[in-house]
Amino acid sequence: MNLADSGTLTTVLNTRGYEPVENENEADIIILNTCSVRQKAEERVFGRLAELSALKRKDTSKKIAVVGCMAQRLAGEILKRAPYVDIILGTDRLLDLPRYLENGRMSGSSIIHTEFGHENYDEIIPTQDSQYSVFVTISRGCDNYCTYCVVPYVRGRERSYPMAGIINRINNLVENGTLEIMLLGQNVNAYKDGDTDFPELLKKAATETDIKRIRFMTSHPKDMSPKLIETIASQPKMMAHVHLPLQSASDRILKKMGRGYTFEHYFSLTEQLKRAVPDIALTTDLIVGFPTETETEFRETLDAVKTIKFDSAFMFRYSPREGTSAAGLEDDIPEPEKIRRLAKLIALQKDVAFEKNQSELGKIRSVLVDGFSRRSEKLLKGKTEGNKTILFKAPPEYIGAIRNIKVESADSWTLHGRVVN
Ligand code: SAH
Ligand code: SF4
Repeated sequence: MNLADSGTLTTVLNTRGYEPVENENEADIIILNTCSVRQKAEERVFGRLAELSALKRKDTSKKIAVVGCMAQRLAGEILKRAPYVDIILGTDRLLDLPRYLENGRMSGSSIIHTEFGHENYDEIIPTQDSQYSVFVTISRGCDNYCTYCVVPYVRGRERSYPMAGIINRINNLVENGTLEIMLLGQNVNAYKDGDTDFPELLKKAATETDIKRIRFMTSHPKDMSPKLIETIASQPKMMAHVHLPLQSASDRILKKMGRGYTFEHYFSLTEQLKRAVPDIALTTDLIVGFPTETETEFRETLDAVKTIKFDSAFMFRYSPREGTSAAGLEDDIPEPEKIRRLAKLIALQKDVAFEKNQSELGKIRSVLVDGFSRRSEKLLKGKTEGNKTILFKAPPEYIGAIRNIKVESADSWTLHGRVVN
């Protein structure tokens, strides 16, 4: 979501004639788009701001803006610790940036705007690295209030964008050469516009546009309906990948997290998805060290990783967030113990991912080729239907096409293959 927001801001600034530069020394304007999900992310931003103070001292005409979730949550503290910041804009106020850059003389006091509402980002196509696979935001905010999570507070109430506008945007993207869309929201499967629920939106996107591939992220297990599973299974344009955050496999912890499902329910969803969609890739988010999590409960999460065999996972140490309901619980798992649990989980997931990727060997996968490998211009990179990165030798003309690639080797993160006709 932050990447999409940065892309939206880039588009807006580009159309006003601003141009990106290689580094902050050359920049007239420095924008930090921030994340508040964990404390570490916020500390990094304060670190960056401290570094930028020297640049600002040298050239006071340089403008520094802090936007997004941290601006929403910590405007006062940002001003206190970095009073040289010129503009602080909350999650719904990104589009105000050009106005403040161009109109305000901005001598003296900083501009702070963090009110929610009227963001209208849905009209703007975010600038992204790949023009072939593009984010399409379909909803913003979240009403779930998982007890650990700051998102509902910094991104506001859940709201769905109108279906007609989304379909329009997809049609425009197709005309510009986009092959794949990633429908984006904190909880996409809660999407609702009148009678159109998320499966209906998927069906419309699949049948009423010429887009080739459709992905979505993130879906909440409690809203993963049989109708949605059936839609993923029956629409060939739907990619064989679902990102379904589990968080913990302990029912007691899930309850304390306010997630609204049991492990048994989650597990049955993964079984239904695996039955309905051959070779489906499942990825997840996991948190270790939530308050009162015992060693036995942590092991339940390890067991779940072994049983379900996620293709990949984002794994985190619990980080208390001020204002959330879990922040009222004692953060009683000591940091070194959280670090130990996380390391153990990451090591296990690495093995599981390796095993899953080995099972790809010999298979022919449909791959959207979207550019050069980051390491070598001799290799191209692409994404399989299961959202795995695959590298292979091919001429640059292959970029921007969907090709069949046979998987020949793999580690825990990347597949290697060769083009087959
Ligand atoms: N809306 C998405 C993503 C939310 S934030 C969802 O519900 O899945 C992305 C991930 O960050 C979450 O899934 C969770 O695993 C992690 N996360 C959120 N708050 C956290 C916290 N306080 N400490 C540690 N990890 C957290
Ligand atoms: Fe946060 Fe839960 Fe909403 Fe995801 S569903 S954004 S974890 S509150």
